[in-house]
Amino acid sequence: MKLSEPYSANTSFDGELSIAGITASGLAAEFGTPLFVIDEDDFFNRALAWKQALTEEFGTEAGTVYYAGKAFLNKEVVRWINAVGIGLDACSGGELAVASSVDFPADRIELHGNNKSEVEIENAIKAGVGTIVMDSFHEIERVARIAAEQKKIQKVFLRITSGVEAHTHEFISTAHEDQKFGFSIASGAAWKAIEATIAHPSLNLAGIHSHIGSQIFINDGFEAAAARLIELLAKYHEHFDMQLPELDLGGGYGIAYLPGESALVPREVLGAIATVVKRECAKFGLRVPKISIEPGRHIVGPTTTTLYEVGTTKSVELDGGDSRRYISIDGGMSDNIRPSLYGARYTALLANRLSDSATVDSRIVGKHCETGDIVIREIDLPGDIKPGDLLAVPATGAYGRSMASNYNHIPRPAVVAVKDGVARLITRRESISDLLSLDI
Ligand SMILES: *Cc1c(COP(=O)(O)O)cnc(C)c1O
Repeated sequence: MKLSEPYSANTSFDGELSIAGITASGLAAEFGTPLFVIDEDDFFNRALAWKQALTEEFGTEAGTVYYAGKAFLNKEVVRWINAVGIGLDACSGGELAVASSVDFPADRIELHGNNKSEVEIENAIKAGVGTIVMDSFHEIERVARIAAEQKKIQKVFLRITSGVEAHTHEFISTAHEDQKFGFSIASGAAWKAIEATIAHPSLNLAGIHSHIGSQIFINDGFEAAAARLIELLAKYHEHFDMQLPELDLGGGYGIAYLPGESALVPREVLGAIATVVKRECAKFGLRVPKISIEPGRHIVGPTTTTLYEVGTTKSVELDGGDSRRYISIDGGMSDNIRPSLYGARYTALLANRLSDSATVDSRIVGKHCETGDIVIREIDLPGDIKPGDLLAVPATGAYGRSMASNYNHIPRPAVVAVKDGVARLITRRESISDLLSLDI
């Protein structure tokens, strides 16, 4: 039986979970647990869907789909996005290094970050990074100086705070906002940043950028941000009698984590954005600029399942006489910080066998020395789950392995790519000696 979202596209359950034709127990035996299992075809198809949707909705005005590497990045993933023919949104020297280690075309990289170091900027310009998205007045001066030193003209965007603040399931529109990213339109900083940028011959201001948040489900937020940025493009046009050629609308497209939740559909959300972009450009007499986007979570999140082995179970008495069963797995907040960090919710499945045992109220917890080390706060799972069983947690591809830590000196898990019945290690498990090698 094929499982639907939030499970990755090629996941099925026939007495045991398998992903792209490989059983959970086979994966655990070969690679150990905890294990991130990424469905390669699913990744490829999701990335391609964004590329095709952008082209279909914007035609010749389609810019670039930049995969937001911070969601999950390793060398193999960079090769995949290169094969799909999309770009990479990187936000540190480390992420740039992964891309250059596998010869990813630098002109398809966009460099983000609110505090890029001198060295990061130097290396990015030296490597020929396509676009640097600038985030502060200090940075405008820094990028301009370093580009001039290298005798280059660097293409840049400015990150603009539109005043549209998007939270997970709602968006609120504020005149100005209290957060670290970008130049705000409302305060006039955005316009000053434009003036500061065009004053530098070593900078080529090609466009503006907005990213309103993450795990967003309501198109209105994207539409409102696009409209405000186009208003700024119109002001530029009015003032200089020229148009900035590009507009980057960021990422943040929501996915399903729990059964019954639905995800945004690339064609639908980009269709809604395209309608607003075309309407607003027509209103101001502008040509539609080249539109780029930066999906991270929506490409990689649903592709990945974490496999854990159960170590212990324990029944705990609750007030009122009920009890809750705690299931301890061999990972936790070190491989998935999102539940502790944002109260994020996941589902799980007994992966290695069928059980007809009645379900009991369960809490899945990690092995770390924190009470808050909870993967799933409340879930009904079969009463006979025991040490040695495998649990599968779907939709862990984004901000899971990439936010993993070594808390309690627990080595970070391996990542295995599965496709057509074959499993390949793409990031090996960290070892205790990796950890010890850092200490002097
Ligand atoms: C985090 C981020 C993204 C990706 O966000 P997702 O929610 O993973 O799609 C895109 N652009 C910028 C600038 C970001 O900071």
